[in-house]
Amino acid sequence: TARPPLALVTGANRGLGREVCHQLRDRGHHVILTARDTDRGQAAARDLGVEFHQLDVSDDASVEHLVADLRRVHPEGLDVVVANAGVALDGFNAEVAATTVDTNYFGVLRIVEAVLPLLNPGAHLVVVSSGVGQRDLLGPQLRPRFNLEQLKIAELSALMRQFVADVRSGHHRDAGWPSTAYGTSKIGATALAHVLTRELAGDPRNLSVVAVCPGWVRTDMGGPNGERDVASGAVSILSGLDVPPSEPHRFFRDGAPANW
Ligand code: NDP
Repeated sequence: TARPPLALVTGANRGLGREVCHQLRDRGHHVILTARDTDRGQAAARDLGVEFHQLDVSDDASVEHLVADLRRVHPEGLDVVVANAGVALDGFNAEVAATTVDTNYFGVLRIVEAVLPLLNPGAHLVVVSSGVGQRDLLGPQLRPRFNLEQLKIAELSALMRQFVADVRSGHHRDAGWPSTAYGTSKIGATALAHVLTRELAGDPRNLSVVAVCPGWVRTDMGGPNGERDVASGAVSILSGLDVPPSEPHRFFRDGAPANW
């Protein structure tokens, strides 16, 4: 068919998300660039010549609004969704833990669950995670609870909420959590890709869900000392599109399975 694949990217007004939109556009996709801030998002979309839609991944109403508009404006359905929006906040306390988990883990889950009915056969969900989300940061009492063969999404979400609650009550160390909200949220994001893959295995659409690490990239988040430019980071993210749904490994960097 002549229709270009339809792609949606979150957190795309700057940094890696914006560059992912750029590269998807150059590959011939129809791109919907989303951002929480309408002015900044529209400016980026105008520069790239792509479509814009407002989306704050931590806001249920914003997600619902997006889905309603997609159904109306794009009944052809989605082929690629890149859940890229993320935060890395300074300091470590209950507020930082809550915002980080709500954006980097629940922000992915919200958008994935919302777009699931809109995905076409063979569609790809790419979750931008990070190699700093290493499971061995978790204490031995927690590791068995991250059993990817059995873990359900509701249980994973409960674990992420428990992390925030344990930080709030001052017991996170005793409970086996590391003192990093970013790392914990990215363990959750990578685990989510694995759990979703298992839960979607029976879906006749043959969907692919994969978590990716862009590497250490010179963006506002990565800082000026990052090892790579934003273009190489976006290539690493988009290598997730080449991972077949049947591949058991679901965490990739530069197109190769990575440890987490
Ligand atoms: P930036 O800080 O440059 O950009 C983050 C983007 O996410 C911004 O567009 C920001 O919007 C957006 N965002 C944050 N919260 C929300 C929200 N609630 N709703 C919608 N958008 C939101 O980071 P990068 O481009 O470097 O990072 C992109 C992804 O890559 C993140 O998930 C990050 O964790 C991951 N990553 C980055 C690495 C690096 O070295 N740079 C390494 C490993 C992973 P706004 O402008 O409004 O704040």
